[in-house]
Amino acid sequence: MNAIHPSQIDTRIGPRIERVETRLIDLPTIRPHKLSMATMNGQTLMLVMVHCSDGVVGIGEATTIGGLAYGGESPESMKLAVDRYFSRLMIGQDSSRVRPLMTRIGRMIKDNRFAKSAVETALLDAQGKRLGLSVSELLGGRLRERLPVAWTLASGDTGRDIDEAEQMLALRRHSTFKVKIGLKSVRDDVAHVASIKRALGDRGAVRVDVNMAWSETDARFGMAALADAGCDLVEQPVSSVAALGRLIRRFPIALMADESLQGPETAFDLASRGSADVFAVKLEQSGGPFNAQRVATIADAAGIDLYGGTMLEGAIGTIISAQVFSTFPNLQWGTELFGPLLLTEEILETPLDYSDFTLAVPTGPGLGISLDLERVAYFTRDGSHQITSTDG
Ligand SMILES: [Mg+2]
Repeated sequence: MNAIHPSQIDTRIGPRIERVETRLIDLPTIRPHKLSMATMNGQTLMLVMVHCSDGVVGIGEATTIGGLAYGGESPESMKLAVDRYFSRLMIGQDSSRVRPLMTRIGRMIKDNRFAKSAVETALLDAQGKRLGLSVSELLGGRLRERLPVAWTLASGDTGRDIDEAEQMLALRRHSTFKVKIGLKSVRDDVAHVASIKRALGDRGAVRVDVNMAWSETDARFGMAALADAGCDLVEQPVSSVAALGRLIRRFPIALMADESLQGPETAFDLASRGSADVFAVKLEQSGGPFNAQRVATIADAAGIDLYGGTMLEGAIGTIISAQVFSTFPNLQWGTELFGPLLLTEEILETPLDYSDFTLAVPTGPGLGISLDLERVAYFTRDGSHQITSTDG
């Protein structure tokens, strides 16, 4: 008999979690990033490092947009939640059993989707490093090696946005542009977008993100005018799911849900009501890699297109997103995984490969990236600032 006796399985002891380390990393942005709810001059990454008894260290990250401007979690609150509540559920547990451990955390900790995403990322990174597999392979295998990446035009100035788009086209870095609107009047915003589309013509696709700033009447005017201007897609023009459902049937322009999409339950609700043509799947909003895959499955089943969204993560949050998006059977609208390009400082030993309008999904074990620990230490809030940086 070759069967394994159950007692042999029960006594298997995997590498234990010994320590959960968190850090806040403050990084400047290349320019102010103007959204309807906040203007960002920098980004704070909440890093999680899971130290395991076999010497493997898994790395995860969570970010927010504009502190608390986007949702209920901030970098500081995520650090506190992990330090005080997640870590005591994790220490001593078998780090190689990621789904059981995340299920345990899910039962004991409500909400906190962004912090859960960072922790799940670190556990998947550790397990991938241990097995010599990239996270996409751990999740069942990737379907693509490179992902198209849109760029966001959010300077608020028409001339500057056109110059920025021209520069991205010349560099062959981006040919799809998402214009952030909602701060000005609908008419001014539509004129801004129309000018950009006119300048780019067929060389660049133009979409808009209103970040819920419009009323339904604003949206009725705005979506018709944007369709006429050659804009492909409107992202979350209003906050109400019911209003999204009314707008979707009126205009020949794709409607994408972003803020309304907060994990599998909301995905199912949006799909059931027919309130979106496209889902902007975000790992943090979904509550982590596993839940992002569930959201994608719901979209596929409902005939809703997929787009890989960003919370303006740094390199770690961007690459876990890339690893997960690479496993999606459908990714009709590409991604916006440009977060690291918005930051002036590199925290990886080898920078990410953005070229030919795409981002390469790393192939190495785990996330497939390595942190430059000296630079991470330098940018850690209240950290030791061990190195003298003159190249900032
Ligand atoms: Mg959005």
